[in-house]
Amino acid sequence: MATSYDVIVIGVGTMGASACWHLSRQGYRVLGLDQFDVPHQLGSHHGHSRMIRLSYFEHPDYVPLLKRSYALWRKLEDTTGREILVTTGGLYLSPENGVIVPGCLKASETHGLDFELLQQAELSKRFPQFSIPDGYRGFYESLAGVLLVDPAMTAFLNLIRECGGRIHENEPVLSWHAGEEAVVVRTAEGEYSAARLIISGGAWSAQLLQGLGLGLRVTRQAMFWIRSLQASRLASDCSPAWFAETAPGKGVYGFPVLPGHEGIKVADHNPGPLTNLDKIDRTCREKDWEAFKPMLAPFLPGPLGQPFAMKTCLYTNSPDGHFILDQHPAFSSVCFGAGFSGHGFKFAPVIGEALAQLAITGKSSQPIEFLGLGRF
Ligand SMILES: Cc1cc2nc3c(=O)[nH]c(=O)nc-3n(C[C@H](O)[C@H](O)[C@H](O)COP(=O)(O)OP(=O)(O)OC[C@H]3O[C@@H](n4cnc5c(N)ncnc54)[C@H](O)[C@@H]3O)c2cc1C
Repeated sequence: MATSYDVIVIGVGTMGASACWHLSRQGYRVLGLDQFDVPHQLGSHHGHSRMIRLSYFEHPDYVPLLKRSYALWRKLEDTTGREILVTTGGLYLSPENGVIVPGCLKASETHGLDFELLQQAELSKRFPQFSIPDGYRGFYESLAGVLLVDPAMTAFLNLIRECGGRIHENEPVLSWHAGEEAVVVRTAEGEYSAARLIISGGAWSAQLLQGLGLGLRVTRQAMFWIRSLQASRLASDCSPAWFAETAPGKGVYGFPVLPGHEGIKVADHNPGPLTNLDKIDRTCREKDWEAFKPMLAPFLPGPLGQPFAMKTCLYTNSPDGHFILDQHPAFSSVCFGAGFSGHGFKFAPVIGEALAQLAITGKSSQPIEFLGLGRF
């Protein structure tokens, strides 16, 4: 059997890379195993950018985690000297009976966050780059922004290696077993043992956590990059990241034009078609754009034209849309993070920290109880 480690991490994507970073910088002997080259375009961490927001409409309990995440993203930037988080402000639009603006208000009032509530006339005046449908109101927060995915992932991976952590790419985990003495992980290359195991398999989590019945549903999500006639008004130094509600808690969103990038990214946060992991359809087609365009059109003055780039990515949806972060109920040496439901990237540094703490001490200093298995 190969060398024994303190912790093995299965899946060195968003959450696994962050967990390896936290463990390796504290001097733990860590081995991260991924089935692909990392980072890659086959899971959930590609497509240039991710939104980060603080007034979290999904649940106020995420706000303390977000505060920690903001601090850790800045720490990552300070350590690597690279920009990762571009603050642009965030604008969220809801119809009268919507849930996003009320949810943002609840999170902000619970945690004393700054915000502005804007009615349609004021929105149209202040943000002429958007169309504001009748009956919509807006919520603006200045601290929201855009995370640059590639610099973020590169920062995690470089720091892990600098701290002596090991990452094996293109080495799929075939099975794992938790015994009384150690955890043993098997790949085609051999077996590895460790005192603790973290499972962060993204879309493949159900396979790695068989028997837990997590009820995860993997969906195919399309992303588009378009050139807009409004481009000069949509630059990141003058235009916010935005999210417009089209169904309760779901909607379309977009990012400003980022420095060094072309065009604006737009996408649908409604879960896409269910995906079979044995035959993932990763090709994004014109029909995806044609299906999406009518949802986007009410919020961006046209003409929208054709996208110059399109990609697909995977959401791993939990039954209630909230993350699942806990120790394995049968094995105290195993913990996992799964079901990040299309909104996990912004939390990567704090989820990685919580996973590392769960692995080493069995509990986290972060308030993660609401994300545990006990809620089901
Ligand atoms: C289109 C799109 C837009 C999004 N927008 C946002 C946003 O604006 N803001 C936000 O906060 N979040 C957003 N998200 C969500 C966020 O990106 C995900 O929640 C997050 O990346 C999930 O991280 P993960 O570690 O679970 O998955 P991944 O990053 O995919 O990592 C899982 C890793 O496990 C590996 N793995 C799986 N099985 C095995 C095995 N058997 N052996 C070895 N390795 C294995 C995989 O290869 C992969 O590298 C978006 C997601 C998508 C798809």
